[in-house]
Amino acid sequence: MRLLVVEDDVALGQILVRGLSEEGYAVDLATRVVDARHNAETHQYDSLVIDIGLPDGNGLDLCRELRDRGDQTPILMLTARDGLSDKVGGLDAGADDYLTKPFDFPELTARVRALTRRPPQTHKTVLEAGDLSLDPASRRVWRGAIIVPLTAREFSLLEHIMRDPDAIHTRTDLLESVWDANYDGVSNVVDVHVANLRRKLEMPDSVSVIETVRGAGYRLHPELLVPAPAPGQTT
Ligand code: CA
Repeated sequence: MRLLVVEDDVALGQILVRGLSEEGYAVDLATRVVDARHNAETHQYDSLVIDIGLPDGNGLDLCRELRDRGDQTPILMLTARDGLSDKVGGLDAGADDYLTKPFDFPELTARVRALTRRPPQTHKTVLEAGDLSLDPASRRVWRGAIIVPLTAREFSLLEHIMRDPDAIHTRTDLLESVWDANYDGVSNVVDVHVANLRRKLEMPDSVSVIETVRGAGYRLHPELLVPAPAPGQTT
Protein backbone atom coordinates (compact mmCIF):
# COMPACT_ATOMS: atom_id res chain seq x y z
CA MET A 1 0.00 0.00 0.00
CA ARG A 2 1.48 3.30 -1.10
CA LEU A 3 0.51 6.73 0.16
CA LEU A 4 1.28 10.31 -0.82
CA VAL A 5 1.35 12.86 2.00
CA VAL A 6 1.17 16.51 0.87
CA GLU A 7 2.19 18.70 3.79
CA ASP A 8 4.42 21.76 3.83
CA ASP A 9 5.04 21.72 7.58
CA VAL A 10 8.30 19.79 7.48
CA ALA A 11 8.19 18.59 11.08
CA LEU A 12 4.61 17.35 10.79
CA GLY A 13 5.33 15.84 7.38
CA GLN A 14 8.20 13.82 8.79
CA ILE A 15 6.11 12.62 11.71
CA LEU A 16 3.42 11.47 9.29
CA VAL A 17 5.91 9.69 7.05
CA ARG A 18 7.61 7.95 9.94
CA GLY A 19 4.37 6.94 11.65
CA LEU A 20 2.66 5.66 8.50
CA SER A 21 5.83 3.80 7.47
CA GLU A 22 5.80 2.05 10.82
CA GLU A 23 2.25 0.96 10.00
CA GLY A 24 3.68 -0.74 6.92
CA TYR A 25 2.75 1.83 4.26
CA ALA A 26 5.19 3.04 1.63
CA VAL A 27 4.96 6.82 1.97
CA ASP A 28 6.04 9.64 -0.34
CA LEU A 29 6.07 13.22 0.94
CA ALA A 30 5.44 16.32 -1.18
CA THR A 31 5.64 19.81 0.30
CA ARG A 32 4.26 21.77 -2.66
CA VAL A 33 1.32 21.43 -5.03
CA VAL A 34 3.62 21.21 -8.03
CA ASP A 35 5.45 18.19 -6.55
CA ALA A 36 2.23 16.54 -5.43
CA ARG A 37 0.79 16.89 -8.93
CA HIS A 38 3.91 15.31 -10.39
CA ASN A 39 3.83 12.43 -7.88
CA ALA A 40 0.14 11.76 -8.47
CA GLU A 41 0.73 11.64 -12.21
CA THR A 42 3.69 9.28 -12.04
CA HIS A 43 2.62 6.81 -9.34
CA GLN A 44 -0.46 4.85 -8.49
CA TYR A 45 -1.30 5.62 -4.86
CA ASP A 46 -3.73 3.81 -2.61
CA SER A 47 -4.58 7.03 -0.80
CA LEU A 48 -3.58 10.72 -0.65
CA VAL A 49 -3.35 12.80 2.53
CA ILE A 50 -3.47 16.50 1.55
CA ASP A 51 -3.02 19.61 3.69
CA ILE A 52 -5.10 22.60 2.58
CA GLY A 53 -2.64 25.47 3.07
CA LEU A 54 0.35 24.89 0.79
CA PRO A 55 3.02 27.40 -0.25
CA ASP A 56 2.22 27.37 -3.97
CA GLY A 57 -1.50 26.75 -3.89
CA ASN A 58 -4.45 25.25 -2.14
CA GLY A 59 -4.97 21.58 -1.31
CA LEU A 60 -8.65 21.89 -2.17
CA ASP A 61 -7.82 23.05 -5.68
CA LEU A 62 -5.40 20.16 -6.05
CA CYS A 63 -8.12 17.74 -4.94
CA ARG A 64 -10.62 19.22 -7.39
CA GLU A 65 -8.04 19.10 -10.18
CA LEU A 66 -7.34 15.40 -9.57
CA ARG A 67 -11.04 14.58 -9.58
CA ASP A 68 -11.59 16.59 -12.76
CA ARG A 69 -8.87 14.51 -14.35
CA GLY A 70 -10.71 11.33 -13.37
CA ASP A 71 -8.31 10.37 -10.57
CA GLN A 72 -10.42 8.44 -8.05
CA THR A 73 -7.68 7.78 -5.47
CA PRO A 74 -9.19 8.14 -1.97
CA ILE A 75 -8.27 11.54 -0.48
CA LEU A 76 -8.09 12.60 3.17
CA MET A 77 -7.90 16.39 3.62
CA LEU A 78 -6.13 17.91 6.62
CA THR A 79 -7.96 21.05 7.71
CA ALA A 80 -7.18 23.77 10.21
CA ARG A 81 -8.99 23.86 13.53
CA ASP A 82 -12.45 25.38 13.20
CA GLY A 83 -12.03 25.62 9.48
CA LEU A 84 -15.64 24.60 8.91
CA SER A 85 -15.70 26.12 5.44
CA ASP A 86 -12.58 24.04 4.66
CA LYS A 87 -14.40 20.86 5.63
CA VAL A 88 -17.39 21.65 3.48
CA GLY A 89 -15.07 22.78 0.72
CA GLY A 90 -13.05 19.57 1.01
CA LEU A 91 -16.04 17.35 0.50
CA ASP A 92 -17.26 19.59 -2.32
CA ALA A 93 -13.88 19.32 -3.96
CA GLY A 94 -14.21 15.53 -4.01
CA ALA A 95 -12.29 14.53 -0.88
CA ASP A 96 -13.46 11.33 0.79
CA ASP A 97 -12.80 12.39 4.36
CA TYR A 98 -11.21 15.18 6.37
CA LEU A 99 -9.34 15.42 9.63
CA THR A 100 -8.97 18.58 11.72
CA LYS A 101 -5.55 19.65 12.98
CA PRO A 102 -4.27 18.99 15.54
CA PHE A 103 -5.14 15.30 15.46
CA ASP A 104 -4.03 12.17 17.25
CA PHE A 105 -1.95 9.83 15.15
CA PRO A 106 -4.19 6.78 15.77
CA GLU A 107 -7.09 8.82 14.39
CA LEU A 108 -5.16 9.48 11.21
CA THR A 109 -4.15 5.84 10.73
CA ALA A 110 -7.73 4.71 11.34
CA ARG A 111 -9.00 7.11 8.63
CA VAL A 112 -6.27 6.06 6.20
CA ARG A 113 -6.98 2.40 6.85
CA ALA A 114 -10.67 2.97 6.14
CA LEU A 115 -9.83 4.77 2.89
CA THR A 116 -7.41 2.13 1.66
CA ARG A 117 -9.73 -0.76 2.37
CA ARG A 118 -10.21 -2.67 -0.82
CA PRO A 119 -13.56 -2.58 -2.59
CA PRO A 120 -15.83 -5.48 -1.50
CA GLN A 121 -15.38 -7.57 -4.64
CA THR A 122 -11.64 -7.95 -4.09
CA HIS A 123 -11.67 -7.69 -0.33
CA LYS A 124 -11.01 -10.90 1.49
CA THR A 125 -10.67 -10.86 5.22
CA VAL A 126 -7.82 -13.34 5.26
CA LEU A 127 -5.60 -14.01 2.25
CA GLU A 128 -4.79 -17.70 1.88
CA ALA A 129 -2.43 -19.73 -0.28
CA GLY A 130 -1.90 -23.36 0.65
CA ASP A 131 -0.82 -23.48 4.27
CA LEU A 132 0.07 -19.77 4.24
CA SER A 133 -2.47 -17.26 5.64
CA LEU A 134 -2.24 -13.49 6.04
CA ASP A 135 -4.77 -11.35 7.87
CA PRO A 136 -4.47 -7.66 6.88
CA ALA A 137 -6.73 -6.56 9.75
CA SER A 138 -4.74 -8.09 12.59
CA ARG A 139 -1.49 -7.98 10.57
CA ARG A 140 -0.76 -11.61 11.37
CA VAL A 141 0.74 -14.31 9.22
CA TRP A 142 0.48 -18.07 9.72
CA ARG A 143 2.25 -20.98 8.15
CA GLY A 144 0.01 -23.92 9.01
CA ALA A 145 -1.13 -23.26 12.56
CA ILE A 146 2.00 -21.35 13.55
CA ILE A 147 1.93 -17.56 13.79
CA VAL A 148 5.08 -16.11 12.24
CA PRO A 149 6.17 -12.66 13.46
CA LEU A 150 7.24 -10.39 10.61
CA THR A 151 8.49 -6.82 10.42
CA ALA A 152 6.07 -4.22 8.97
CA ARG A 153 8.00 -4.17 5.71
CA GLU A 154 8.16 -7.95 5.38
CA PHE A 155 4.43 -8.06 6.03
CA SER A 156 3.73 -5.46 3.32
CA LEU A 157 5.92 -7.31 0.87
CA LEU A 158 4.16 -10.62 1.49
CA GLU A 159 0.73 -8.94 1.37
CA HIS A 160 1.55 -7.32 -1.96
CA ILE A 161 2.63 -10.66 -3.44
CA MET A 162 -0.35 -12.56 -2.00
CA ARG A 163 -2.85 -10.02 -3.34
CA ASP A 164 -1.71 -10.84 -6.85
CA PRO A 165 -0.67 -14.47 -6.44
CA ASP A 166 -0.34 -15.42 -10.12
CA ALA A 167 1.80 -12.44 -11.08
CA ILE A 168 5.55 -12.36 -11.41
CA HIS A 169 6.67 -9.32 -9.45
CA THR A 170 9.80 -7.58 -10.69
CA ARG A 171 12.16 -5.98 -8.21
CA THR A 172 11.17 -2.59 -9.62
CA ASP A 173 7.49 -3.33 -9.07
CA LEU A 174 8.14 -4.44 -5.51
CA LEU A 175 10.37 -1.45 -4.73
CA GLU A 176 7.77 0.88 -6.19
CA SER A 177 4.84 -0.63 -4.29
CA VAL A 178 6.34 -1.58 -0.96
CA TRP A 179 9.09 0.98 -0.49
CA ASP A 180 8.86 4.64 -1.48
CA ALA A 181 10.13 6.87 -4.23
CA ASN A 182 12.97 8.27 -2.17
CA TYR A 183 14.32 4.92 -1.13
CA ASP A 184 18.07 5.20 -1.52
CA GLY A 185 19.34 2.39 0.66
CA VAL A 186 21.00 -0.81 -0.45
CA SER A 187 20.11 -1.88 -3.97
CA ASN A 188 19.41 -5.50 -3.04
CA VAL A 189 16.84 -4.57 -0.38
CA VAL A 190 14.09 -6.57 -2.12
CA ASP A 191 16.26 -9.70 -2.27
CA VAL A 192 17.21 -9.30 1.38
CA HIS A 193 13.56 -9.06 2.44
CA VAL A 194 12.53 -11.98 0.24
CA ALA A 195 15.32 -14.05 1.81
CA ASN A 196 14.12 -13.07 5.29
CA LEU A 197 10.54 -13.99 4.44
CA ARG A 198 11.63 -17.38 3.10
CA ARG A 199 13.68 -18.07 6.20
CA LYS A 200 11.01 -16.99 8.66
CA LEU A 201 8.26 -18.88 6.83
CA GLU A 202 10.30 -22.03 6.24
CA MET A 203 8.57 -25.27 7.23
CA PRO A 204 9.88 -28.83 7.00
CA ASP A 205 8.24 -30.73 4.14
CA SER A 206 6.72 -27.53 2.69
CA VAL A 207 7.75 -25.50 -0.33
CA SER A 208 9.43 -22.13 0.06
CA VAL A 209 6.70 -19.47 0.00
CA ILE A 210 8.33 -17.29 -2.65
CA GLU A 211 9.78 -18.60 -5.88
CA THR A 212 12.51 -16.87 -7.88
CA VAL A 213 11.68 -16.60 -11.56
CA ARG A 214 15.10 -16.28 -13.11
CA GLY A 215 15.63 -12.99 -14.91
CA ALA A 216 12.10 -11.84 -14.12
CA GLY A 217 11.42 -11.50 -10.42
CA TYR A 218 9.49 -13.24 -7.69
CA ARG A 219 6.12 -14.89 -7.32
CA LEU A 220 4.18 -16.85 -4.79
CA HIS A 221 5.23 -20.49 -5.11
CA PRO A 222 2.74 -22.07 -7.56
CA GLU A 223 2.39 -25.18 -5.37
CA LEU A 224 0.77 -22.99 -2.73
CA LEU A 225 -1.99 -22.17 -5.21
CA VAL A 226 -2.91 -25.83 -5.76
CA PRO A 227 -5.70 -26.81 -3.34
CA ALA A 228 -4.29 -29.00 -0.60
CA PRO A 229 -5.57 -32.59 -0.60
CA ALA A 230 -8.20 -33.31 2.02
CA PRO A 231 -6.85 -35.15 5.08
CA GLY A 232 -6.54 -38.88 4.40
CA GLN A 233 -6.74 -38.40 0.65
CA THR A 234 -3.83 -39.78 -1.34
CA THR A 235 -2.52 -38.14 -4.45
CA1 CA B 1 0.14 23.97 5.60
